[in-house]
Amino acid sequence: MVNLRDQFPILKRKVNGYPLVYLDNAATTQKPSVVIEAMNDYYSNSNANVHRAVHTLAGEATDGYESCRTALKQRFNAEYAILTSGTTEAINLVAHAWGRANLQKGDVIVLTEMEHHSDIVPWQMLAEERGVELRFVPVTKQFTLDMDAFAFALEGAKLACVVHTSNVLGVRNPLEDIIEMCRKNGVRVLIDAAQGVPHTHLDFSGFGADFVAFSAHKMCGPTGIGALLVQPDAFKEMNPFMGGGDMIEQVTIEGSTYQTNEHKFEAGTPRIAEAIGWKAALDWLNSIDIESEHERLVNIAKYVADQLRQIGVEVYGRHERQDSAVVSFTHPTINSEDIAHLLDARGFAVRTGHHCAQPLLQRLGLSGTVRASFYVYNTMDEAEQFIAEMKDIVEKFA
Ligand code: PMP
Repeated sequence: MVNLRDQFPILKRKVNGYPLVYLDNAATTQKPSVVIEAMNDYYSNSNANVHRAVHTLAGEATDGYESCRTALKQRFNAEYAILTSGTTEAINLVAHAWGRANLQKGDVIVLTEMEHHSDIVPWQMLAEERGVELRFVPVTKQFTLDMDAFAFALEGAKLACVVHTSNVLGVRNPLEDIIEMCRKNGVRVLIDAAQGVPHTHLDFSGFGADFVAFSAHKMCGPTGIGALLVQPDAFKEMNPFMGGGDMIEQVTIEGSTYQTNEHKFEAGTPRIAEAIGWKAALDWLNSIDIESEHERLVNIAKYVADQLRQIGVEVYGRHERQDSAVVSFTHPTINSEDIAHLLDARGFAVRTGHHCAQPLLQRLGLSGTVRASFYVYNTMDEAEQFIAEMKDIVEKFA
């Protein structure tokens, strides 16, 4: 078998004269050749619109697009997989298609302070429009959700929206407990799994959440595509979001009827090349034992977090347990942006800033962090190089 890293063309490039060490995987992952080739092949040989014509190319495009949905349903054991532009659109879709059909003035949505902006702003917009109440579950000093406050907040709620794994803290939330609490209270649950699904095997039918949102680009697939998995009873409660071609059954001047499957929520020409690329990525990921890979990455992240703490760096995340492949940190005297620039000068790609989670950073009393995040092609050797570079930066600039 070809070495895993050799399957990612970008990993061969140099940045500022140094080999690229790509540690910004929580923002987006790199793409293996099979994904790039699948998209190239589609545009070179099969490009056509889907669902509309009987010609050969249209059939190939339709099969390619729908094969992504089939692969998602198989991988996640889901009955409904709506293709969206990503996690953000998937959550907005729930807010529009389910929220506007089912929530009235005074109804309650439970959110957490750990949410990404994409799981806060759509609900704020809905709250403004409909007068629904938003309750935020606080994050504790141990960087976990306050579960007592969660239980309290669920009283009389209609929907809870929770991040699977924090893109800032790397904390993986106790989803089984949360989902059970929600179900006991008759509260529908949306899980933002943008950081979770790339690292775990999720069996959606047994999971218990009503909606799960995630993006292809964080799991070796292309940008511009993602999915919303929906349980059948929640699916029945969703009204169409965008109107247009493909989502209808029949249109007359008097009115329209709609498709009853996922197409109802996929108006217009969809992301055909991206779906084909994602299908290739899903096939590629299916050849990897994602759970043991995750364990390997967690060990790498734990090593990085421990080493950083030893050189006076403040790491934000549980001390006693590393849940994920994300390590967020600041240095008491060296500016985070400066750290990122110094790292970039040596070929290391990390992210800085608020990571689209300003309420969480406000709770932590921070304006930003440096974040190193790991994925399947990262190695312990790279982690050691990263620590050596960080030691050098601290020695020279602290
Ligand atoms: N939620 C979380 C936890 C994320 O990390 C991200 C991406 N940073 C998103 C939502 C939004 O994903 P996208 O930009 O692909 O829609």
